[in-house]
Formats: sequence, structure tokens, C-alpha cells
Amino acid sequence: MFSRLATRPLATRPLARTLATPTKQWDRGMKVLAILYRGGEAARQEPRLLGTVENELGLRSWLESQGHEFIVSDSKEGPNSDLHKHITDAEVVITTPFHPGYLTRDLIDKAKNLKVCVTAGVGSDHVDLNAAVERKIQVLEVTGSNVTSVAEHVVMSILLLVRNFVPAHEMIERGDWQVSDVARNAFDLEGKVVGTIGAGRIGYRVLERLMPFDTKEHLYYDYNSLPAEAEKKVRARRVEDLKALVSQCDVVTVNCPLHEGTRNLVNADLLKHFKKGAWLVNTARGAICDKDAVAAALKSGQLSGYAGDVWNVQPAPKDHVWRTMKNALGGGNGMVPHYSGTTLDAQARYAAGTRSILENYLKGKPQEPANIIVGIGKYETKAYGQR
Ligand code: NAD
Repeated sequence: MFSRLATRPLATRPLARTLATPTKQWDRGMKVLAILYRGGEAARQEPRLLGTVENELGLRSWLESQGHEFIVSDSKEGPNSDLHKHITDAEVVITTPFHPGYLTRDLIDKAKNLKVCVTAGVGSDHVDLNAAVERKIQVLEVTGSNVTSVAEHVVMSILLLVRNFVPAHEMIERGDWQVSDVARNAFDLEGKVVGTIGAGRIGYRVLERLMPFDTKEHLYYDYNSLPAEAEKKVRARRVEDLKALVSQCDVVTVNCPLHEGTRNLVNADLLKHFKKGAWLVNTARGAICDKDAVAAALKSGQLSGYAGDVWNVQPAPKDHVWRTMKNALGGGNGMVPHYSGTTLDAQARYAAGTRSILENYLKGKPQEPANIIVGIGKYETKAYGQR
């Protein structure tokens, strides 16, 4: 694996020596607020669902034994929510992309005591990062913790769209058997051109995992280019113009963070440049793709399929068009709730990574460089836009 993409085990990564460190916290209690998703009966039966309100990332006894207050809730919307109530005096806020506690500029203004936002997972776009920079609030995430989980989901989603899997399964469940109805829109992935928007940890792993499928070509669009050796390893060719990339691809997969430069990036205008009947997979963030333009492209046949697990608002409203949109043949929808990066394997990694970030903070130790999205007063990552 190549240096920009490598995800070494958390315990063996080197620590930054030069970053500013916070003052030591172990001599006093602080308030830690965690906004997680509610796990219900499943979380009571399955303790490995660590990222839930019920199982609290496994942090409660450890934090309380050191005299810290730990508030855990899924209530995040509106002035009476726990997020709005407790943000005013919390020193650390833990959020998760799976049930995003939106830390808007307004909320950050009210958070007089806030020093650190920790994302239990990967993707911190639910935090107003510019406001965090201005307020000198650190934004840290457990980089790499679920990138393999997501890459596997992307490959699965590409296959289920290209092979027209969902309508075929639904037919069987209905009790029908008409092979031609599903075979008429089923293809092989072999020989297809696949392009990724973003070739970081996830995008690169997707290309690695596609190698055995004998795809025709791999293209990528990213302002950070891959080292030549890394390109060669996954047969990737960089395309500097996004329209030129999508016009050559049978399959496009979105693997970049959501920021000012990617919000609504895949819109009606860009979709016109896709090959007619292409497949689009987005497990990055819902708001990177225009919801209505995608639904219209599927209906018109400009796209044959759209799949992913991320939505512009989460939880997605019951009437969200992506729940039920279909292509003209009644298929092409591979949407699921946001879970590709929250497999039980991933939860173990991001729970351990969250604890390690808190331990560093409490002991005044430097954080892992790769985990720092916003350091004290500046962006440390190159992934959230060119600055
Ligand atoms: P990463 O930082 O390793 O890679 C992101 C890449 O995107 C970088 O190479 C960056 O240069 C590139 N990029 C940024 N802006 C771009 C633009 N305008 N055009 C093209 N490329 C651009 O991040 P990663 O670990 O690969 O994760 C990527 C994103 O995937 C996360 O930010 C998150 O939003 C999403 N994600 C989703 C899940 C899930 O469960 N669905 C889980 C983890 C991450």
C-alpha cells in the first residue's frame, strides 16, 4: 500500500511531534456529549453494536471512573433536543455520520466550552469546519476505520446494479419466474470502464477490489494525484476534467468528502455528460448528488441505476424520492440506509479509535496526524477542498 493511502493499525501509527497540544485534562472532570443512533432491541441483543445510544461506544465506565460526565442521546434536532441543550457546556462532542448531529455555525457559537469534536467514523461534513477553524475547535475522526467496509459495499453495489440483482430477487419473492424480464437489463462487469470521483482511501480500495473482474479501464478524478506506482497497481488513469471522466465511464462511483467544492457536484448538467445508461454508486455523501436530478436521470434512462447508502438528510424522510425511484424497467435502485461503514467490524475499530482520541486529549498527548481534520485554528487535511 502507498503512503497517502495506507491505513496502519491504530496502535502502531506514529504520533505527530510538532502539533500544538491541549492542556492536560486528567485533573478535572469535563462534560462529554455523544450523539449516536438508537439501536433498540438489536443493540440490547448485540453488544457489538457499539456505535448506538445503548452501547455508548463502550466509553461510559471508563469516562465516569475518571470523574467525567457522559451524556449520550440520539436527540439532535431542534432547540429542545439534547444536542442543542448540552452543547452549551460540553467540552467534547462525539458525533457519528450515521446519525449526524449537525454542528452548524449557530450551534458552535453557543458551544462556549467546546474544544474537540470527534467523529466516530469517517466524514466530518456534518460539522461546520470553517466555524471550527475560526473558534479553534479541533475536529478529529477515526480515519481509515471503515474504509474497507465501504469499499466492499461499493463493489457489491456496482455488481448488483450491473447484474440487475434487486428486481431478480424481488421477482423470486413475489413467486414469479420470467428470466427474460430481468436478463434484458443484466450485464457483466468484465470489460466495463469504471471511474471514481475521489481516489483516497476508499476510492483506491474500490479500484484494488475491482482488479480481478477484468474491467476494461479504471479512471479517477481527484485534485490529489496518486503516485505513479499506485496508479499502475490498479490500472488507474487520471482524468483532469470531470465531464471528460463521466463521459467515458460505464460505472461512476463517488468517493470524495462533502465540502463546498463537492456539494451538488453530480447535478443535472453533469448527468447529461454521462454515457447513456451508466450506473452511479454513491456511498460518500448524499448531498454530493442532486436528489431530483438523479431520480429524473433514472426515469429517463440517462442512468440505468443508482445505489448507495447516504442521503442528503438522515434519517431520510419516508417520502424521499430515492427510496422508490426506478428506471423504466422497474429496477435500478440499490439504496439502503446508511450502514456500509458501520458493520460490526467497523464499529469495533471506530469505538477503539474514539477512545484513543479521547485518551490522547485527556493526557495532553498529540493526536494521530491522519485523524486531524481541523487542528487548532487550521485545516490539517487536504481532502476537504483545495485551500
Ligand atoms: P480520503 O480523505 O482518504 O479520500 C478522499 C479523497 O477525495 C481525497 O483523495 C481527496 O483529494 C478527494 N477529493 C476531495 N475533494 C474532491 C473533489 N472536489 N473532486 C475529486 N476528489 C476530491 O477519504 P476516504 O476515507 O476515502 O473517505 C471519503 C468519504 O467517504 C468520506 O469523507 C465520507 O464522506 C465517506 N464515507 C462514507 C462512509 C459510509 O458509511 N457510507 C464511511 C466512511 C466514509
